[in-house]
Amino acid sequence: MINVTKSYLPELDEYTAYLKGIWERVHLTNDGPLLRRLEDELKEFLDVKYLKFCTNGTIVLQMALKALDIKKEVITTPFSYVATTNALLWEGCTPVFADISPDDYNIDPEKIEPLITADTQAIMATHVYGNACKIEQIQAIADKYNLKVIYDAAHTFGASYNGKSILSYGDLSTCSFHATKVFHTVEGGCIVTNDADMAQKLHYMRSFGHQNDNYYGVGINAKNSELHAAMGLCVLPKVPELIAARKERFGYYDNQLDFSKITRPTLTPGVDYNYAYYPVIFDSEETLLRVTDALKAEDVMPRRYFYPSLNTLPFTFRPGTTTAQPCPVSEDVSLRVLCLPLYPDLAEADVDRIVATVNLAVGIVPESV
Ligand SMILES: *Cc1c(COP(=O)(O)O)cnc(C)c1O
Repeated sequence: MINVTKSYLPELDEYTAYLKGIWERVHLTNDGPLLRRLEDELKEFLDVKYLKFCTNGTIVLQMALKALDIKKEVITTPFSYVATTNALLWEGCTPVFADISPDDYNIDPEKIEPLITADTQAIMATHVYGNACKIEQIQAIADKYNLKVIYDAAHTFGASYNGKSILSYGDLSTCSFHATKVFHTVEGGCIVTNDADMAQKLHYMRSFGHQNDNYYGVGINAKNSELHAAMGLCVLPKVPELIAARKERFGYYDNQLDFSKITRPTLTPGVDYNYAYYPVIFDSEETLLRVTDALKAEDVMPRRYFYPSLNTLPFTFRPGTTTAQPCPVSEDVSLRVLCLPLYPDLAEADVDRIVATVNLAVGIVPESV
C-alpha cells in the first residue's frame, strides 16, 4: 500500500549508537546533552538565532500565544491543519478567519485589514505546503496596526525565502517535527525567535516556568527527550538528500500529469522550496472523489489535505452564532484539493502508476441522465 507519506528511518545501528550513550549517562530528558546538540545543529542548519526544541508542533503554537500575551482576536487562515485553529481556541483566543489567495492558498493579505478591530492582537498564518506567505505585506499590516505575527511554519523545514529560512520570519515561528514531516524526531517541534529575551522566556516556559531555584512565571511541560533528540540527530544530516529525492519525484509528477484538467498552487517568488507536498486541484469535488476511488482501487491512499475548511467546523464559529465566518475561496479549494503521495523512496514505477490512474480518472466524463 502506498500512503500519502512515509516516515524516513535512519539505519537502526545509527540510532542504537545514540541509545548506548543515553544508557551510559542515564540522562533521559530535562535539557540533556543530545537535546542541546540537536538545538545547536538545527540553529546552524536553519541559520536561525534562537530555537527551542519542544514536544510537538501544536504546543509551540500555544506557547507562542502565551509568550506574546495574546488573549483576544487573532486573524488566521481557514486553510491549514486543524492544530492552527485548535491552538487559538485552546488558549481562549477568538479565531477570525481571513480568506486565502486563489493562487497559493496562503492567507490573502488583502482580506486581513477589513477584519481588524480594537480587539485584534495578532495574525497567525500558515505557510501552506511549505510555501511562504506574502510576508512583507503581512508585516506591513502588522506594523501599521501594532499586531504580532506568528507563523505556523510546520511545513517549511529546509525551505527558504529570499535566502533565509522561512522559519526566521515573524515575531515567532513554529515548526513540527512529527514523523510525517520533511524532518522529524518521531514527535517534536520547535519555536524560533530572533529575540534573546523571548528565547529565555520560552526556555523557562517550556519547563514548567522553572528559573533556577525559582519560577519565572506560569509554564508548561513542553520539553522533549533525549530519545527524540537522538532521532533528530540521525535524520538531520540526511535532510539535503531527502529533499533532493522529494524534488525528483515532484518532477516526475510535474512532467507527466495532465494539466489540462488539473491545477497546482503557485510558488511564491523568492522561495527555495522543500518539496514537502504534492497537492493537485481538480475542477470539482466529484472529480476528486472519482480520482480518490480510482487510486484506492490501486492501493494508493492520497489525502484531502486540508479538508474541511476550518471556518466551517462548528467549534470555530464566533460565540453565539450558528454560521461559519465566510471564506468562499478556502471552502472551494478545500473541496477540490488532494495531496498525492510524495516521499523520498517512492518508486518511479509507483509514480507512473499514480499518474496513469489520475490522468485516466480525470478524463472520464460522468454520464448525464
Ligand atoms: C503537522 C502540523 C501541525 C501540528 O504539528 P504536531 O507536531 O503534529 O503537533 C500544526 N500545523 C500544521 C500546518 C501542521 O501541518
